[in-house]
Amino acid sequence: MLETFVEEDVAALVDGLNFKEKVDRSLSLIDSAWKTHGDGLVVANSLGKDSVAVWHLAKRVSPEIRGFIVTTRFKPPETKRFMAEEVAKYPELRVFENNVQIPERLYETNPDRCCEVLKVEPTRRAIEQMGVTCWVTGLRCTEGRTRVDFRELEQRDEGLLKLNPILIWHEREVWQYLALHKVDVNPLYAEGYRSLGCAPCTRITTDPNERAGRWIGTSKCGGECGIHTRPLKLVDGAGI
Ligand code: SF4
Repeated sequence: MLETFVEEDVAALVDGLNFKEKVDRSLSLIDSAWKTHGDGLVVANSLGKDSVAVWHLAKRVSPEIRGFIVTTRFKPPETKRFMAEEVAKYPELRVFENNVQIPERLYETNPDRCCEVLKVEPTRRAIEQMGVTCWVTGLRCTEGRTRVDFRELEQRDEGLLKLNPILIWHEREVWQYLALHKVDVNPLYAEGYRSLGCAPCTRITTDPNERAGRWIGTSKCGGECGIHTRPLKLVDGAGI
């Protein structure tokens, strides 16, 4: 069933489907994966607008679907408070963090390494500890230059599928969905942020690129933390 989605031309669907058709498609994708993977299907929730939309969609498919949050010591206080509220509301959301010591200001001197330690490692641990066979993300192909080539269903690691059920949604459609369903969002959006991350690496911008405020002034500007580009299955010697 899931395979039928894989064959389609994702770029054509971005403007070829209307809002309702996209919502129905996203629900079908999650439902098919849930029927195949059961408890092995887990939502990665970054607490951004896309993640809370996917989390809401998943809960419509089944209230039993679990999720995980990867947090870091550098998340803004607003995001930490929002995380506490979400976890209180949904105890099936598990939180993973890496508290290992790292060099001061590593986010400036080597942001790739900082993200590898603080974000990729706990994501690997979440996948291992929660027995994930299909992780569900809020990736969208219209978010920026680094996200145009993703597919709705991907396999980068042996034994681990990645499902991107809102891949073809526009930013406006995410807000449309959240407003229609009165979904709580991170209060930082009211300040003008469009893409949320750690405090030292996230800025408010007026750039048309949605992720332009991420890692400004570094080689990673507008880029990725690594969870969508690095291997995630733990093997000997992997991790930090
Ligand atoms: S976003 Fe910045 S502070 Fe957060 S893990 Fe990556 S480099 Fe470090």
